[in-house]
Amino acid sequence: MSTVFEKIVNREIPAYIVYEDESVIAFLDISQVTTGHTLVVPITPYKNIYEMPEDLLAHVMKVTQKVSIACKKAFNADGIYVLSNNDEAAGQTVFHFHFHVMPRFINDDVSLKFVNHMNDMTKDEYKKRALMIKEALS
Ligand code: AMP
Repeated sequence: MSTVFEKIVNREIPAYIVYEDESVIAFLDISQVTTGHTLVVPITPYKNIYEMPEDLLAHVMKVTQKVSIACKKAFNADGIYVLSNNDEAAGQTVFHFHFHVMPRFINDDVSLKFVNHMNDMTKDEYKKRALMIKEALS
C-alpha cells in the first residue's frame, strides 16, 4: 500500500506543495503545528532514516536547509525546529521518511520538552554511554 506522501507525489491527493525537484518534494504539513509547518520528503518512499541512501539523505538535508531559511523569512520566525521521527516509539505516524521544518515563535504552544538529567549523571555513566555508541559505530 502506498503512503500518504506517495499519494501526494503522484497527485492522487491534494497538498500545498512549496518545492519539488527530481528526488525531493516539500509541502505544508496538514496539521500546521506552527504557522508554516512544512514537510520535506524524498520522492522514493524509504521508511526511515536508517534506510535512506547517504546521497539522497544529503540532498534532502540541503532542501531542508533551504526550506528552513525560506520559512524563517516568510513567517518572520524566531527560530526553526528541524526534526524527524523514526519508528513508532519516536512518534512516527507516516512510514515514509521526512523532516519536519517547524517555524518557532517566542511563546508559541509547542510542547516538546527536553528534561535535563545532567545532575543525575556520573562521569562513568557518560563514558559508558559514549563507549556504547562508539562500539556500535565501528
Ligand atoms: P510523523 O508523525 O513524524 O510521521 O509525521 C507525519 C506528518 O504527516 C504529521 O505531522 C501529519 O500531520 C502529516 N500528514 C499526514 N497526512 C498528511 C497530508 N495528507 N498532507 C500533509 N501532511 C500530512
